[in-house]
Amino acid sequence: MQKSFLPSFILALLLLCVPSHAAEDHDFSFKVSRGDAFYKFFFSTGLSGDLLNKLMSSDKRAQRLNNIYPGDRFRIILNDDHSLKQIVFSPLNDNPLNIYYDGRDFTYEKKDARAESALTYTIVNIQKSLNYDAKKAGVDAEVIKMMVDHFSWEMDFSRDLRKGDRFVLSWNGDKTPEAMIYVGDRKTIALFSHKDSKGIKKYHLSNGFTINDTFTFAPVKYSRISSGFSKRRWHPKLKTYRPHRGTDFAAPTGTPVYAPAKGLVKYVATLSGYGNVIYLKHGSELVTVYAHLSKFAKGLKSGNRVKKGELIGYVGSTGMSTGPHLHYEIRINGVHKDAEKIRLDKRSAVPNSEMPSFQKRAKRILFELNIK
Ligand SMILES: [Zn+2]
Repeated sequence: MQKSFLPSFILALLLLCVPSHAAEDHDFSFKVSRGDAFYKFFFSTGLSGDLLNKLMSSDKRAQRLNNIYPGDRFRIILNDDHSLKQIVFSPLNDNPLNIYYDGRDFTYEKKDARAESALTYTIVNIQKSLNYDAKKAGVDAEVIKMMVDHFSWEMDFSRDLRKGDRFVLSWNGDKTPEAMIYVGDRKTIALFSHKDSKGIKKYHLSNGFTINDTFTFAPVKYSRISSGFSKRRWHPKLKTYRPHRGTDFAAPTGTPVYAPAKGLVKYVATLSGYGNVIYLKHGSELVTVYAHLSKFAKGLKSGNRVKKGELIGYVGSTGMSTGPHLHYEIRINGVHKDAEKIRLDKRSAVPNSEMPSFQKRAKRILFELNIK
């Protein structure tokens, strides 16, 4: 709920509030972020407090303007003499409200956007969790899983998802959505379906790329693989056969270790067996492990996001180790995989020849859903 008083410190904010405009400063567009209030937008166009009071007391429907949420949008249109002509309030999950001003009276008109739009869509308004709220909105389990699998590449559902965030799914008759869009306070992540040459449907960002990342084979510059993945290996320290569920890259102590793909730091710890160890999470199912490190990268802690190629630590021989090397693991849903054999999905792109139509469709969907 936004309040409509005007504390003096807000005045400083107003000066920073630069509206996007077209047509000689007569048409202003705004998108609401957390903490925004309608009066901020109103005043930034140069309109007066008297007019705002008049507007607010003109009709009880005007109170809707004080009840705004991130992702909602406003247009304020002025006449040539900079007097008010029209306000268009477009809430994310409701029909637009038009308010016209003729210099004396305000006229209200609510348009039914759904009647004019061919697009069908589902809005998942986050109150508890994606799983809970999506089910409540009628989204089936398979689609919810798809959403988690995709968006986990760019967000941690346990940390980043906030009450009031939204997911918007648009449909074109298939069982799976045509677009999946996350609208949060700080960012919007929009994914659009595209069928590849084999007819397989994938979701791409508007730049054409899928949201996942391609893994580099080794997270370190190594001299050789000193021990591969095996179910049974002689352990010289424990003097017994044990499975080796990772790949050992031999490299001198202090050799930098880099994230092989973008991900989230899940765990940074010192354990008896692994020594100094880092766990990275990539998407919803994939975890990579880096053990026996001499040091962690400065400032690295759980909850950090890392980019592909970002320094995370240095090779060492901490924990149960016979000499300097990186012990590297890939786990999918907790199951250890052989890094030398596994074929991980690569990031793929919409072919150049199809980009214009792909981007045109993406733009149309965002426009119809009123998402910037
Ligand atoms: Zn190992």
